[in-house]
Amino acid sequence: MGTVVVTDQIYTKGVLQKDCAFYMENGKIIEIGTSRDVLRKYSGKRVEELKGKAVVPGTVNAHNHSFQSLLRGMAVDRPFLEWRDLALYKYTPHLDEEAIYTGALFAFGEMLKYGVTTVCDFFYVHNGSNAFDEAVIRAAKDLGIRLVLARTMYDWEGAPKAYIEKVDEAVERTRALAIKYQGDDMVDIHPAPHSPHAASPVMIKAGHKLACELDTPFHIHVAEEMFEVEETLEKFGLHPGDYLDSLGVVDDRMIAIHLVWLQQSEISMLGRKGATLAYCPSSNMFLADGITRIPELLKAGVRVALGSDGACSNNRISVFEEMRMCALLQKVRTLDGTSINAQKVYEMGTKMGGEILRLPVGELKAGMAADFVTLDLDDLSLLPKPELFANIVYSMQPTAIRDVYVAGKQVVVNGKLKSVKEEKIVQLVDSVSRKWENVGES
Ligand SMILES: [Zn+2]
Repeated sequence: MGTVVVTDQIYTKGVLQKDCAFYMENGKIIEIGTSRDVLRKYSGKRVEELKGKAVVPGTVNAHNHSFQSLLRGMAVDRPFLEWRDLALYKYTPHLDEEAIYTGALFAFGEMLKYGVTTVCDFFYVHNGSNAFDEAVIRAAKDLGIRLVLARTMYDWEGAPKAYIEKVDEAVERTRALAIKYQGDDMVDIHPAPHSPHAASPVMIKAGHKLACELDTPFHIHVAEEMFEVEETLEKFGLHPGDYLDSLGVVDDRMIAIHLVWLQQSEISMLGRKGATLAYCPSSNMFLADGITRIPELLKAGVRVALGSDGACSNNRISVFEEMRMCALLQKVRTLDGTSINAQKVYEMGTKMGGEILRLPVGELKAGMAADFVTLDLDDLSLLPKPELFANIVYSMQPTAIRDVYVAGKQVVVNGKLKSVKEEKIVQLVDSVSRKWENVGES
Protein backbone atom coordinates (compact mmCIF):
# COMPACT_ATOMS: atom_id res chain seq x y z
CA MET A 1 0.00 0.00 0.00
CA GLY A 2 3.01 2.33 0.17
CA THR A 3 4.60 4.16 -2.76
CA VAL A 4 8.17 4.92 -3.77
CA VAL A 5 8.45 8.40 -5.28
CA VAL A 6 11.37 8.96 -7.64
CA THR A 7 12.07 12.40 -9.03
CA ASP A 8 14.92 14.54 -10.40
CA GLN A 9 15.47 16.66 -7.27
CA ILE A 10 14.11 16.67 -3.72
CA TYR A 11 14.38 19.43 -1.13
CA THR A 12 15.46 17.70 2.05
CA LYS A 13 17.74 18.62 4.98
CA GLY A 14 17.71 22.24 3.86
CA VAL A 15 19.01 21.65 0.31
CA LEU A 16 17.89 20.41 -3.08
CA GLN A 17 19.37 16.97 -3.62
CA LYS A 18 19.67 15.01 -6.84
CA ASP A 19 19.33 11.26 -7.19
CA CYS A 20 17.02 10.97 -4.19
CA ALA A 21 13.78 9.05 -3.69
CA PHE A 22 11.42 8.49 -0.79
CA TYR A 23 9.02 5.87 0.41
CA MET A 24 5.64 6.93 1.84
CA GLU A 25 2.93 4.90 3.54
CA ASN A 26 -0.25 5.83 5.45
CA GLY A 27 0.23 9.50 4.64
CA LYS A 28 3.75 9.67 6.10
CA ILE A 29 7.28 9.67 4.77
CA ILE A 30 8.97 6.51 5.98
CA GLU A 31 12.40 6.93 4.44
CA ILE A 32 14.37 9.20 2.13
CA GLY A 33 17.59 8.06 0.49
CA THR A 34 19.38 7.61 -2.82
CA SER A 35 16.99 6.34 -5.44
CA ARG A 36 19.02 3.15 -5.80
CA ASP A 37 18.78 2.33 -2.08
CA VAL A 38 15.11 3.25 -1.70
CA LEU A 39 14.07 1.32 -4.84
CA ARG A 40 16.03 -1.72 -3.69
CA LYS A 41 14.73 -1.67 -0.11
CA TYR A 42 11.10 -1.21 -1.13
CA SER A 43 11.14 -3.36 -4.28
CA GLY A 44 7.70 -4.71 -5.10
CA LYS A 45 6.02 -1.48 -3.91
CA ARG A 46 4.26 0.85 -6.28
CA VAL A 47 6.67 3.31 -7.93
CA GLU A 48 5.72 6.82 -9.01
CA GLU A 49 8.20 8.42 -11.40
CA LEU A 50 8.06 12.22 -11.50
CA LYS A 51 10.35 12.92 -14.42
CA GLY A 52 11.50 16.47 -15.10
CA LYS A 53 10.23 17.61 -11.73
CA ALA A 54 11.52 18.72 -8.35
CA VAL A 55 9.72 17.72 -5.14
CA VAL A 56 9.55 20.37 -2.39
CA PRO A 57 7.61 20.47 0.89
CA GLY A 58 4.08 21.84 0.65
CA THR A 59 3.85 25.38 2.00
CA VAL A 60 2.07 26.30 5.23
CA ASN A 61 -0.29 29.27 5.21
CA ALA A 62 -0.19 30.23 8.89
CA HIS A 63 -2.87 32.93 8.66
CA ASN A 64 -5.92 33.32 6.43
CA HIS A 65 -9.62 34.19 6.61
CA SER A 66 -11.24 31.96 3.98
CA PHE A 67 -14.59 33.76 3.70
CA GLN A 68 -12.75 36.94 2.69
CA SER A 69 -12.04 35.39 -0.72
CA LEU A 70 -15.67 36.22 -1.54
CA LEU A 71 -14.91 39.91 -0.88
CA ARG A 72 -11.81 40.11 -3.04
CA GLY A 73 -11.60 43.30 -5.05
CA MET A 74 -14.15 45.17 -2.91
CA ALA A 75 -13.26 48.46 -1.24
CA VAL A 76 -9.67 48.46 -2.50
CA ASP A 77 -7.40 51.51 -2.09
CA ARG A 78 -9.00 52.66 1.18
CA PRO A 79 -7.74 53.43 4.70
CA PHE A 80 -7.87 50.38 7.01
CA LEU A 81 -11.05 51.24 8.94
CA GLU A 82 -12.90 52.26 5.78
CA TRP A 83 -11.87 48.99 4.11
CA ARG A 84 -13.05 47.06 7.18
CA ASP A 85 -16.44 48.77 7.22
CA LEU A 86 -17.08 48.68 3.45
CA ALA A 87 -15.88 45.13 2.79
CA LEU A 88 -16.01 42.99 5.95
CA TYR A 89 -18.74 44.57 8.03
CA LYS A 90 -21.03 45.42 5.14
CA TYR A 91 -21.17 41.92 3.65
CA THR A 92 -20.96 39.80 6.81
CA PRO A 93 -24.73 39.95 7.56
CA HIS A 94 -25.32 38.37 4.12
CA LEU A 95 -23.13 35.32 4.75
CA ASP A 96 -25.08 32.09 5.22
CA GLU A 97 -23.75 28.57 5.65
CA GLU A 98 -23.63 27.99 1.89
CA ALA A 99 -21.63 31.19 1.36
CA ILE A 100 -19.18 30.24 4.13
CA TYR A 101 -18.69 26.80 2.53
CA THR A 102 -18.27 28.43 -0.88
CA GLY A 103 -15.70 30.93 0.45
CA ALA A 104 -13.67 28.16 2.05
CA LEU A 105 -13.84 25.90 -1.02
CA PHE A 106 -12.78 28.85 -3.18
CA ALA A 107 -9.94 29.98 -0.90
CA PHE A 108 -8.55 26.53 -0.14
CA GLY A 109 -8.94 25.36 -3.74
CA GLU A 110 -7.00 28.34 -5.05
CA MET A 111 -4.32 27.89 -2.38
CA LEU A 112 -3.82 24.21 -3.19
CA LYS A 113 -3.08 25.17 -6.78
CA TYR A 114 -0.33 27.49 -5.48
CA GLY A 115 1.23 24.76 -3.36
CA VAL A 116 -0.34 25.39 0.07
CA THR A 117 -0.87 22.01 1.77
CA THR A 118 -1.69 23.26 5.29
CA VAL A 119 -3.85 26.29 5.97
CA CYS A 120 -4.71 27.96 9.26
CA ASP A 121 -8.11 29.58 8.89
CA PHE A 122 -8.66 32.25 11.53
CA PHE A 123 -12.43 31.99 11.52
CA TYR A 124 -14.77 34.39 13.27
CA VAL A 125 -18.18 34.29 11.56
CA HIS A 126 -19.82 31.86 13.98
CA ASN A 127 -23.38 33.19 13.86
CA GLY A 128 -24.29 31.72 17.23
CA SER A 129 -23.13 28.12 16.81
CA ASN A 130 -20.44 25.89 15.27
CA ALA A 131 -22.40 25.26 12.05
CA PHE A 132 -20.39 27.76 9.99
CA ASP A 133 -17.14 26.42 11.46
CA GLU A 134 -18.22 22.94 10.36
CA ALA A 135 -18.88 24.28 6.84
CA VAL A 136 -15.23 25.45 6.66
CA ILE A 137 -14.05 22.04 7.85
CA ARG A 138 -16.28 20.31 5.28
CA ALA A 139 -14.75 22.39 2.46
CA ALA A 140 -11.21 21.48 3.60
CA LYS A 141 -12.13 17.79 3.71
CA ASP A 142 -13.81 17.90 0.28
CA LEU A 143 -10.59 19.31 -1.22
CA GLY A 144 -8.11 17.29 0.84
CA ILE A 145 -6.18 20.23 2.35
CA ARG A 146 -4.84 20.03 5.91
CA LEU A 147 -6.66 22.52 8.17
CA VAL A 148 -6.05 24.31 11.42
CA LEU A 149 -9.22 26.14 12.39
CA ALA A 150 -8.22 28.99 14.68
CA ARG A 151 -11.68 29.36 16.20
CA THR A 152 -11.99 33.02 17.01
CA MET A 153 -13.31 34.38 20.31
CA TYR A 154 -14.70 37.86 19.79
CA ASP A 155 -16.72 40.08 22.12
CA TRP A 156 -16.29 43.65 20.89
CA GLU A 157 -19.80 45.10 20.51
CA GLY A 158 -18.91 47.35 17.56
CA ALA A 159 -18.66 44.39 15.15
CA PRO A 160 -21.36 42.55 13.17
CA LYS A 161 -23.53 40.31 15.38
CA ALA A 162 -22.35 37.12 13.67
CA TYR A 163 -18.83 37.61 15.15
CA ILE A 164 -19.84 38.25 18.74
CA GLU A 165 -20.07 35.66 21.53
CA LYS A 166 -20.16 35.82 25.29
CA VAL A 167 -16.99 34.51 26.92
CA ASP A 168 -18.57 31.28 28.19
CA GLU A 169 -20.26 30.61 24.81
CA ALA A 170 -16.97 31.08 22.96
CA VAL A 171 -15.15 28.78 25.38
CA GLU A 172 -17.87 26.09 25.30
CA ARG A 173 -18.17 26.03 21.51
CA THR A 174 -14.43 26.10 20.89
CA ARG A 175 -13.88 23.31 23.39
CA ALA A 176 -16.69 21.19 21.90
CA LEU A 177 -15.26 21.57 18.40
CA ALA A 178 -11.72 20.79 19.56
CA ILE A 179 -12.86 17.65 21.36
CA LYS A 180 -14.87 16.50 18.35
CA TYR A 181 -11.80 16.68 16.08
CA GLN A 182 -9.25 15.27 18.50
CA GLY A 183 -7.66 12.31 16.74
CA ASP A 184 -8.43 13.66 13.26
CA ASP A 185 -5.05 13.92 11.48
CA MET A 186 -6.35 16.47 8.97
CA VAL A 187 -8.11 18.97 11.27
CA ASP A 188 -6.89 20.78 14.39
CA ILE A 189 -8.84 23.37 16.40
CA HIS A 190 -7.01 26.19 18.22
CA PRO A 191 -8.56 28.97 20.36
CA ALA A 192 -8.09 32.45 18.87
CA PRO A 193 -9.13 35.51 20.89
CA HIS A 194 -9.33 38.01 18.03
CA SER A 195 -7.09 40.92 19.12
CA PRO A 196 -6.59 43.39 21.96
CA HIS A 197 -9.04 45.58 20.04
CA ALA A 198 -11.86 43.01 19.55
CA ALA A 199 -11.52 40.69 22.54
CA SER A 200 -11.91 41.83 26.14
CA PRO A 201 -9.22 41.03 28.71
CA VAL A 202 -11.50 38.31 30.11
CA MET A 203 -11.92 36.79 26.63
CA ILE A 204 -8.19 36.87 25.92
CA LYS A 205 -7.40 35.16 29.21
CA ALA A 206 -10.13 32.57 28.58
CA GLY A 207 -8.64 31.81 25.14
CA HIS A 208 -5.20 31.32 26.62
CA LYS A 209 -6.55 29.15 29.42
CA LEU A 210 -8.44 26.97 26.94
CA ALA A 211 -5.27 26.56 24.85
CA CYS A 212 -3.49 25.33 28.00
CA GLU A 213 -6.34 22.92 28.73
CA LEU A 214 -6.37 21.57 25.15
CA ASP A 215 -2.56 21.73 24.91
CA THR A 216 -2.62 23.73 21.67
CA PRO A 217 -1.26 27.08 20.54
CA PHE A 218 -3.55 30.13 20.59
CA HIS A 219 -3.75 32.82 17.91
CA ILE A 220 -4.23 36.58 18.30
CA HIS A 221 -3.83 39.62 16.01
CA VAL A 222 -1.45 42.06 17.70
CA ALA A 223 -0.49 45.65 16.82
CA GLU A 224 -1.54 45.47 13.18
CA GLU A 225 -2.55 49.11 13.10
CA MET A 226 -1.38 52.18 15.00
CA PHE A 227 -4.91 52.74 16.29
CA GLU A 228 -4.60 49.62 18.44
CA VAL A 229 -1.51 51.04 20.15
CA GLU A 230 -3.38 54.26 20.88
CA GLU A 231 -6.32 52.25 22.18
CA THR A 232 -4.41 49.99 24.61
CA LEU A 233 -2.38 52.98 25.79
CA GLU A 234 -5.57 54.89 26.50
CA LYS A 235 -7.48 52.01 28.11
CA PHE A 236 -4.71 50.18 29.95
CA GLY A 237 -1.73 52.54 29.87
CA LEU A 238 0.30 49.91 28.03
CA HIS A 239 1.47 49.11 24.49
CA PRO A 240 -0.27 46.02 22.98
CA GLY A 241 2.57 43.54 23.65
CA ASP A 242 3.05 44.76 27.21
CA TYR A 243 -0.71 44.73 27.76
CA LEU A 244 -0.92 41.06 26.73
CA ASP A 245 2.04 40.28 28.96
CA SER A 246 0.23 41.97 31.85
CA LEU A 247 -2.64 39.50 31.28
CA GLY A 248 -0.17 36.62 31.63
CA VAL A 249 -0.81 35.20 28.17
CA VAL A 250 2.55 35.73 26.44
CA ASP A 251 4.28 32.36 26.25
CA ASP A 252 5.32 29.72 23.72
CA ARG A 253 1.68 28.96 22.89
CA MET A 254 1.20 32.41 21.42
CA ILE A 255 0.93 32.76 17.65
CA ALA A 256 0.75 36.52 17.23
CA ILE A 257 -0.34 37.84 13.86
CA HIS A 258 1.21 41.00 12.33
CA LEU A 259 3.24 42.56 15.23
CA VAL A 260 3.76 45.73 13.19
CA TRP A 261 3.80 48.41 15.90
CA LEU A 262 6.10 47.16 18.65
CA GLN A 263 8.70 48.85 20.80
CA GLN A 264 12.13 47.22 20.97
CA SER A 265 11.44 46.23 24.58
CA GLU A 266 8.31 44.35 23.48
CA ILE A 267 10.29 42.56 20.76
CA SER A 268 12.82 41.40 23.35
CA MET A 269 10.07 40.32 25.75
CA LEU A 270 8.28 38.26 23.05
CA GLY A 271 11.56 36.54 22.19
CA ARG A 272 12.35 35.80 25.83
CA LYS A 273 8.92 34.27 26.38
CA GLY A 274 9.03 32.09 23.27
CA ALA A 275 6.13 33.74 21.41
CA THR A 276 5.81 33.17 17.65
CA LEU A 277 4.62 35.24 14.69
CA ALA A 278 2.46 34.54 11.64
CA TYR A 279 3.75 37.27 9.33
CA CYS A 280 1.62 38.59 6.46
CA PRO A 281 3.81 41.03 4.49
CA SER A 282 1.52 41.50 1.45
CA SER A 283 -1.50 42.22 3.63
CA ASN A 284 0.46 44.77 5.67
CA MET A 285 1.43 46.50 2.45
CA PHE A 286 -2.06 46.28 0.92
CA LEU A 287 -3.70 47.89 3.96
CA ALA A 288 -0.83 50.35 4.52
CA ASP A 289 -0.40 48.98 8.07
CA GLY A 290 3.36 49.45 8.28
CA ILE A 291 6.41 47.16 8.24
CA THR A 292 7.04 44.51 10.89
CA ARG A 293 10.68 44.42 11.97
CA ILE A 294 11.44 40.82 11.00
CA PRO A 295 15.27 40.73 11.35
CA GLU A 296 14.93 42.26 14.85
CA LEU A 297 12.23 39.74 15.85
CA LEU A 298 14.31 36.83 14.55
CA LYS A 299 17.33 38.11 16.43
CA ALA A 300 15.28 38.26 19.63
CA GLY A 301 14.38 34.59 19.15
CA VAL A 302 10.81 34.94 17.86
CA ARG A 303 9.99 32.11 15.44
CA VAL A 304 8.34 33.46 12.29
CA ALA A 305 6.03 31.71 9.82
CA LEU A 306 4.19 33.24 6.84
CA GLY A 307 0.53 33.86 6.11
CA SER A 308 -1.41 35.37 3.25
CA ASP A 309 -4.15 36.88 5.44
CA GLY A 310 -7.60 37.07 3.81
CA ALA A 311 -7.86 37.36 0.03
CA CYS A 312 -9.49 40.79 0.25
CA SER A 313 -6.39 42.29 1.88
CA ASN A 314 -3.59 40.85 -0.23
CA ASN A 315 -5.16 39.96 -2.80
CA ARG A 316 -3.20 36.80 -3.67
CA ILE A 317 -3.18 33.78 -1.42
CA SER A 318 0.10 32.04 -2.16
CA VAL A 319 2.81 31.40 0.43
CA PHE A 320 5.51 31.28 -2.26
CA GLU A 321 4.40 34.86 -3.00
CA GLU A 322 4.77 35.81 0.69
CA MET A 323 8.32 34.41 0.76
CA ARG A 324 9.28 36.81 -2.03
CA MET A 325 7.36 39.72 -0.48
CA CYS A 326 8.90 39.16 2.95
CA ALA A 327 12.42 39.20 1.53
CA LEU A 328 11.89 42.25 -0.69
CA LEU A 329 10.09 44.30 1.95
CA GLN A 330 12.67 43.65 4.67
CA LYS A 331 15.56 44.41 2.33
CA VAL A 332 14.11 47.75 1.33
CA ARG A 333 13.21 48.68 4.90
CA THR A 334 16.70 47.97 6.22
CA LEU A 335 18.47 49.15 3.03
CA ASP A 336 20.50 45.98 3.45
CA GLY A 337 20.42 43.18 0.88
CA THR A 338 21.78 40.74 3.45
CA SER A 339 19.18 41.44 6.15
CA ILE A 340 17.25 38.31 5.14
CA ASN A 341 17.84 35.61 2.53
CA ALA A 342 16.10 33.06 0.33
CA GLN A 343 16.83 30.18 2.70
CA LYS A 344 15.30 31.98 5.66
CA VAL A 345 12.07 33.05 3.94
CA TYR A 346 11.69 29.60 2.43
CA GLU A 347 11.94 28.08 5.90
CA MET A 348 9.34 30.56 7.17
CA GLY A 349 6.89 29.40 4.51
CA THR A 350 7.40 25.71 5.21
CA LYS A 351 9.21 24.35 8.28
CA MET A 352 8.43 27.23 10.65
CA GLY A 353 4.75 27.04 9.75
CA GLY A 354 4.74 23.40 10.83
CA GLU A 355 6.65 24.24 13.98
CA ILE A 356 4.44 27.06 15.23
CA LEU A 357 1.23 25.17 14.38
CA ARG A 358 2.72 22.07 16.04
CA LEU A 359 2.15 19.83 13.04
CA PRO A 360 4.54 17.30 11.45
CA VAL A 361 4.62 19.25 8.17
CA GLY A 362 6.88 21.63 6.25
CA GLU A 363 9.87 19.31 5.90
CA LEU A 364 10.47 16.19 3.87
CA LYS A 365 12.06 13.66 6.19
CA ALA A 366 11.22 10.37 7.86
CA GLY A 367 8.27 10.66 10.22
CA MET A 368 6.82 13.80 8.63
CA ALA A 369 3.56 13.98 6.70
CA ALA A 370 3.82 13.25 2.97
CA ASP A 371 2.68 16.79 2.05
CA PHE A 372 4.59 17.90 -1.04
CA VAL A 373 4.50 19.83 -4.27
CA THR A 374 6.07 19.01 -7.62
CA LEU A 375 7.62 21.76 -9.73
CA ASP A 376 8.12 21.60 -13.49
CA LEU A 377 11.87 22.04 -13.99
CA ASP A 378 11.30 23.28 -17.55
CA ASP A 379 8.92 26.07 -16.54
CA LEU A 380 10.48 29.28 -17.82
CA SER A 381 10.05 31.01 -14.44
CA LEU A 382 12.45 28.49 -12.86
CA LEU A 383 15.29 28.77 -15.38
CA PRO A 384 18.27 28.76 -15.45
CA LYS A 385 18.45 25.34 -13.77
CA PRO A 386 21.65 25.70 -11.70
CA GLU A 387 19.95 28.46 -9.66
CA LEU A 388 16.80 26.47 -8.95
CA PHE A 389 16.52 27.24 -5.22
CA ALA A 390 16.86 31.02 -5.57
CA ASN A 391 14.44 30.88 -8.50
CA ILE A 392 11.80 29.04 -6.44
CA VAL A 393 11.83 31.94 -3.96
CA TYR A 394 12.34 34.95 -6.20
CA SER A 395 11.02 34.20 -9.70
CA MET A 396 8.69 31.21 -9.68
CA GLN A 397 5.17 31.68 -11.01
CA PRO A 398 2.22 29.34 -10.29
CA THR A 399 2.67 27.88 -13.81
CA ALA A 400 5.59 25.87 -12.38
CA ILE A 401 3.44 24.12 -9.75
CA ARG A 402 2.19 20.89 -11.29
CA ASP A 403 1.08 18.38 -8.62
CA VAL A 404 0.20 18.66 -4.96
CA TYR A 405 -0.02 15.83 -2.43
CA VAL A 406 -1.42 16.02 1.09
CA ALA A 407 -0.94 13.06 3.45
CA GLY A 408 0.31 11.06 0.46
CA LYS A 409 -2.86 11.68 -1.57
CA GLN A 410 -2.73 13.60 -4.80
CA VAL A 411 -5.05 16.62 -4.64
CA VAL A 412 -3.77 18.67 -7.60
CA VAL A 413 -2.97 16.90 -10.89
CA ASN A 414 -1.02 18.79 -13.50
CA GLY A 415 -2.20 22.15 -12.15
CA LYS A 416 -5.88 21.18 -11.71
CA LEU A 417 -7.80 20.33 -8.55
CA LYS A 418 -8.60 16.65 -8.32
CA SER A 419 -11.51 16.07 -5.96
CA VAL A 420 -13.65 19.16 -6.60
CA LYS A 421 -14.21 20.37 -10.15
CA GLU A 422 -13.06 23.96 -10.62
CA GLU A 423 -16.21 24.61 -12.68
CA LYS A 424 -18.20 23.83 -9.55
CA ILE A 425 -16.25 26.44 -7.54
CA VAL A 426 -16.84 29.01 -10.29
CA GLN A 427 -20.57 28.27 -10.24
CA LEU A 428 -20.83 28.54 -6.47
CA VAL A 429 -18.86 31.80 -6.29
CA ASP A 430 -20.95 33.26 -9.12
CA SER A 431 -24.15 32.40 -7.30
CA VAL A 432 -22.97 34.16 -4.10
CA SER A 433 -21.93 37.22 -6.14
CA ARG A 434 -25.35 37.30 -7.85
CA LYS A 435 -27.13 37.27 -4.48
CA TRP A 436 -24.99 40.23 -3.42
CA GLU A 437 -25.67 42.38 -6.45
CA ASN A 438 -27.95 44.74 -4.56
CA VAL A 439 -26.00 44.81 -1.29
CA GLY A 440 -23.61 47.36 -2.76
CA GLU A 441 -26.35 49.97 -2.98
CA SER A 442 -27.86 49.51 0.46
ZN1 LIG B 1 -6.10 38.35 10.02
